[in-house]
Amino acid sequence: MNRAIYPGSFDPITLGHLNIIERALDMYDGLVILLAVNPGKQSLFTVEENLEMLRDATSKWPQVEIDSTTGLLVDYARKHGIRQAVRGLRAVTDFDAEFSMALTNRSLWEDFDTVYLMTSAEYMFLRSSMVKQIAEHGGDISGFVPDNVEAKLRARFRR
Ligand code: ADP
Repeated sequence: MNRAIYPGSFDPITLGHLNIIERALDMYDGLVILLAVNPGKQSLFTVEENLEMLRDATSKWPQVEIDSTTGLLVDYARKHGIRQAVRGLRAVTDFDAEFSMALTNRSLWEDFDTVYLMTSAEYMFLRSSMVKQIAEHGGDISGFVPDNVEAKLRARFRR
């Protein structure tokens, strides 16, 4: 089975992430969405909350599996026999960090490759941090996140 991992913080999942997932599912038989837990990075939701939102938002795709790791992506990948990661690229500003991450991962495991999908134009400026800011100030986030995430964000910032 041809599987890939889509790693990220997903704090929380947005329509930009879902667009990448949907397109990756055209290329792979299975996709593991891997919440990479980074204790150094402040997150709005707990790991469990973000996993639950990921599960909800992707429940219509039986080929999608949701998991998390506190370790290295390549260690997770090796353990599960998966040799490719999928990431999204929004603009040149993403490129530097992605380039060094892809090369670092390949230096840790030479058989491991990262495949990049260009963002869809309508999601070019969409990132989780922006959605959180808008929600915090009571703005309309319905065009940016799936319904279950919108409800969660509204509840979190309800005054
Ligand atoms: P990270 O903190 O690891 O960058 P994110 O959850 O922010 O995790 O994003 C995970 C992946 O999804 C990254 O490759 C990111 O570039 C991609 N991504 C996020 N938002 C979009 C979007 N709107 N369009 C395309 N790719 C996106």
